[in-house]
Amino acid sequence: MDKPLTADIGFIGLGANLGSPVTTLTSALSHIAALTDVELIASSSFYDSVPMGPSEQPNYINAICKISTTLDGLSLLKQLQYIEQTHGRIRNGEHWGPRTLDLDLLLLGQQQYHTNELTLPHYGMQGREFVLVPMFELQPDLIMPDNASIAKWVSECDVSQLRRIQMT
Ligand code: ADP
Ligand code: MG
Repeated sequence: MDKPLTADIGFIGLGANLGSPVTTLTSALSHIAALTDVELIASSSFYDSVPMGPSEQPNYINAICKISTTLDGLSLLKQLQYIEQTHGRIRNGEHWGPRTLDLDLLLLGQQQYHTNELTLPHYGMQGREFVLVPMFELQPDLIMPDNASIAKWVSECDVSQLRRIQMT
């Protein structure tokens, strides 16, 4: 008999700074919710953030969603990249450059990967207020990969330029 599949809780970071970011993030969330073997549990508020890296680009809109899935990390990443493409994402190789949609797999249960294609837990959560503040909003008791609380990671961020967007 097949081993029963256990579901992992995952967190996905969403970001956009070209086109209509709020519309794009809203659409991306419904595409994530519609994925086979993925259940969308909750999504955070949307936040306006200043870009990392090249500064000659518009501010980002960022959000986080929490999912439950039986998929492994690589299968889920492929689905997320397909959603990026259907929202006009063009990969030009520029790191941290402007984009219509960026979906990053941040955490997926205890799954770990150490390849270029997938690093899990995501290498870039610490110090990124636009990731950690919405994550804290969704799960304030989350324990981070170094066993510190998410509250500690948030307290180490510069949140002075992060703005929660009031949706009408
Ligand atoms: P970034 O998000 O770092 O600005 P990209 O979205 O262009 O850059 O991603 C570059 C590559 O990062 C992708 O081709 C993807 O395979 C890889 N990658 C590695 N780990 C992850 C992860 N946890 N989530 C999303 N992409 C990842
Ligand atoms: Mg990315």
